[in-house]
Amino acid sequence: MTAQLIDGNALSRETRADIARRVQTLKERGLTPGLAVILVGDDPASAVYVRNKVKACGETGMHSVLETWPASMTEAELLARIQALNSDPSIHGILVQLPLPGHMNAQKVIEAISPDKDVDGFHVASAGALMTGLPGFWPCTPHGCMKMLESIGYELRGKHAVVIGRSNIVGKPMAMMLLHKSATVTICHSATADLKAMTLQADVIVAAVGKRGLVTADMVKPGAVVLDVGMNRDEHGKLCGDVDFAGVREVAGWITPVPGGVGPMTITMLMANTLDAAEQSL
Ligand code: NAP
Repeated sequence: MTAQLIDGNALSRETRADIARRVQTLKERGLTPGLAVILVGDDPASAVYVRNKVKACGETGMHSVLETWPASMTEAELLARIQALNSDPSIHGILVQLPLPGHMNAQKVIEAISPDKDVDGFHVASAGALMTGLPGFWPCTPHGCMKMLESIGYELRGKHAVVIGRSNIVGKPMAMMLLHKSATVTICHSATADLKAMTLQADVIVAAVGKRGLVTADMVKPGAVVLDVGMNRDEHGKLCGDVDFAGVREVAGWITPVPGGVGPMTITMLMANTLDAAEQSL
């Protein structure tokens, strides 16, 4: 069997076109959705991510502000900037690019963002809302994965989903979203005794670890859906995921590529959250 591809670029284009239409409607009512992106320090990967986020705002007709600050910025100065953006009516979403320099407490910084503008979905209020099924912003990467499953009409009810990774930004919220759709969910992590025994039972595998080649063909049940969140570099410096794509695509029913899979959907869901925040502000 050769798996069907879930094309994150194509789904992103479609979803962003729809977002752009909704942005236009809001603009006609006098409101332009606005996203503020704060980058502290000069991490080159972070600089690329924030540039792509700002670019996506422009493409969907949203207003964006990019604030770049030196790594010497104090935590108090950053908290003051966040407070100013919390009360800026032209800004509906605030994103502080992680990781932050070591002298800052990232959780404290995230908690300073108003939950109404927490478009990354990392605030404890957003995490609590997701856990309890209340309305709130969902973290963009797992939300993008859910949209990818929706795009292939996949029915999660009664299926076994195995999430590899338990971070607060991907693994845990992913598991919660799958659970809300009535999948039976197993969460694996670095202390899982027999990862292969778990993944072989899975109808859906979400790999969110950051280890190239972690999921191989012999770990996948024929026909399973495999979503690859990982972002790694191979020996030639080329972007690759956690899944051995060439091998696993011969076994799986559906698979996401890296690049061109979950990555573009993450930014798309950030646009969707910012639009939702603007609509809710009315
Ligand atoms: P993270 O915070 O480092 O978490 C990695 C998780 O993997 C941890 O829970 C860890 O377990 C688990 N793990 C490590 N080794 C393992 C093993 N051998 N078997 C099973 N589990 C193992 O990373 P993250 O922020 O969640 O990101 C995960 C990956 O997704 C990274 O490659 C990141 O770059 C990528 N990512 C991509 C996007 C995108 O837009 N495509 C967005 C976010 C992240 P413990 O908890 O036990 O340590």
